[in-house]
Amino acid sequence: MTTEFASRLLQALGSECVLTQPDDIAPWLTDWRGIYRGNAQAVVRPRTVEEVSKALAMCNDAGVAVVPRGGNTGLCGGATPDAEPTNVVICLDRMTAVRSIDTVANTMVAEAGCILGNLRRAAQDADRLLPLSLAAEDSSQIGGNLATNAGGVNVVRYGMTRELVLGIEAVLPNGEIFHGLRTLRKDNTGYDLKQLFIGSEGTLGIITAVALRLYARADVRSVVLAAVESPAQALELFERLFAKCGARMQAFEFFTGDCLDITLKHAEGLQEPFDQRYPGYVLLELADTTDEAALNALLESVIGDALEDGLCVDAAVSASLAQLQTLWKLREEISEAQRADGPHLKHDISLPIEHIPAFMVSAEARIRAVEPGVRPFIFGHFGDGNLHYNLSRPEGAPTDWAAKEGYALTAEVLDEVMQYGGSISAEHGIGQLKLQDFKRLKNPLEQRMMHDIKRLLDPKGIMNPGKLLS
Ligand SMILES: Cc1cc2nc3c(=O)[nH]c(=O)nc-3n(C[C@H](O)[C@H](O)[C@H](O)COP(=O)(O)OP(=O)(O)OC[C@H]3O[C@@H](n4cnc5c(N)ncnc54)[C@H](O)[C@@H]3O)c2cc1C
Repeated sequence: MTTEFASRLLQALGSECVLTQPDDIAPWLTDWRGIYRGNAQAVVRPRTVEEVSKALAMCNDAGVAVVPRGGNTGLCGGATPDAEPTNVVICLDRMTAVRSIDTVANTMVAEAGCILGNLRRAAQDADRLLPLSLAAEDSSQIGGNLATNAGGVNVVRYGMTRELVLGIEAVLPNGEIFHGLRTLRKDNTGYDLKQLFIGSEGTLGIITAVALRLYARADVRSVVLAAVESPAQALELFERLFAKCGARMQAFEFFTGDCLDITLKHAEGLQEPFDQRYPGYVLLELADTTDEAALNALLESVIGDALEDGLCVDAAVSASLAQLQTLWKLREEISEAQRADGPHLKHDISLPIEHIPAFMVSAEARIRAVEPGVRPFIFGHFGDGNLHYNLSRPEGAPTDWAAKEGYALTAEVLDEVMQYGGSISAEHGIGQLKLQDFKRLKNPLEQRMMHDIKRLLDPKGIMNPGKLLS
């Protein structure tokens, strides 16, 4: 039955914009992984910022909770409503206009519901690069990317989403529109308010449009897979390659020999890259706007020197696009291979990069003290200090092992991260999933400042309750 408030939303915004029937609403009530499920009295799919404003003002007046939703690819349950039947989900999937691309200022202005992959292709058609790139780019929306401050594979060169944003338009919980959609590179007129919304996980308002930085296309690419004896060697390699290759370094990824093992077992069409298995591997990509021969020569020379100086023990350089893609697949297929191996514990952590080797040793000692048979699969954006420190169940353990026994191990991993001054969430955010650890481990003063900001912008607490802050 349509509630009285949902009827008012229908009246104000029209039936094309507001869904109230349980069957119509159902697809908006679960998360990507099917871990969370919630309730709502209505789903609003606005077409304009004015409609977002109208919907939010009505919810605010009535004290109704609002859950902003983008492409629903978030991995922490942030876009899934809680169990309250009165929630309203606002999804921007119909706000998909690219408002402008400027190839002199190198900027793009787009509505928040645009799919990231479509924006990357629009930039490419204009002979420019939008460097934000992640495996979920053909489903996630740019508004969701901002709300989670997404990372991805090119952060080592271009930075996180936060660094790619020049301006935003957002609607505050009371319906007021923040017109911050500037494309200025320089604006030192006080607090940078747009940054509050980036990484806010829908708790301060709804982002409706964004002005992004564009870069020159870097279509000339060269990749090397280097084998290393240890994370300490990978770190030395990183230091050397950064010094020699500078801004051409587009990605510096790491995975362990165990990750390669599981990938070769589950992924099709991949082969052992060397004639023996090594403890670790680094995948390095260089990219430039021009001169493939020079880029290849640079890569071969720095890797040759690194081999001679003992910074890696083996290396395979891509000689064709097909080889480049195969080397990348060894890294990209790890998540899928681990999924095929069964339910596991995911930890998306970051560390001061120089502490990664010590962390790998001490964290393993901690988890083995709790569960000697646990199988770690460690990979990630090493150049950003970001590791996916994933733990699979011991051989022979039941498939519900992670759900039933996992938290003790998660607590060990995250406590160890804090010992090194790291972060319990490098890229994915807090959502519902990490709320308990956020409260436990985030600095109390920083938590209080966040609550103060939240109270100022959202005094009635309607925005995404139970996510990030509660
Ligand atoms: C296969 C796969 C690979 C991934 N790889 C990466 C990766 O490499 N790096 C990375 O950082 N993430 C990665 N992710 C996670 C996810 O893609 C990102 O967090 C992404 O930015 C979420 O965007 P979305 O549009 O799907 O947001 P949603 O999941 O819909 O929402 C995420 C959060 O943002 C809020 N939100 C959404 N839209 C708005 C808006 N317009 N205004 C205000 N708040 C809003 C929601 O309330 C929620 O709290 C991956 C996910 C998958 C499934």
